[in-house]
Amino acid sequence: MCGIAGCVGGDNAAEIVYETLVRLEYRGYDSAGIACLSGGKIIQEKHRGRVEKLCSVAHSMRGTVAIGHTRWATHGAPSDINAHPHAYGRFSIVHNGIIENYEKLKEGLICGGESFLSETDSEVIAHLLNKNYSGDLISALKTTADMLQGSYA
Ligand code: GLU
Repeated sequence: MCGIAGCVGGDNAAEIVYETLVRLEYRGYDSAGIACLSGGKIIQEKHRGRVEKLCSVAHSMRGTVAIGHTRWATHGAPSDINAHPHAYGRFSIVHNGIIENYEKLKEGLICGGESFLSETDSEVIAHLLNKNYSGDLISALKTTADMLQGSYA
């Protein structure tokens, strides 16, 4: 279980996501993080511990698209590095659920030369989206979803 939030619109998307995470914190308080698309670049902040640690950073992020997460750890200890969002290439993701076949997927990606930062099952999603993306986001999402077993939002 975890809390996930997203916002598109305005230039204070990260602030809105932060306020939403505060309300969702009961769903997971191992860590919290926000990623924001700002000036064409993804910036992110994530920490072990409570959502309130993100307060000042979230209010200083300027961008029209943001995602956020409060984690209830299932794979990988509660830590800064295992906190969501997980970013790879052009993508940053937050995940609620469990990817049951993540070890096999991760092994294949590592054989292909990719390296991972976290111990989570979730990080494979960012890698797969990046790998499956060639200009069409919906198609990358569909291909990635077809490869995942488990539960995910
Ligand atoms: N399985 C993921 C993790 O452990 C997501 C857990 C959650 O839903 O908070 O990081």
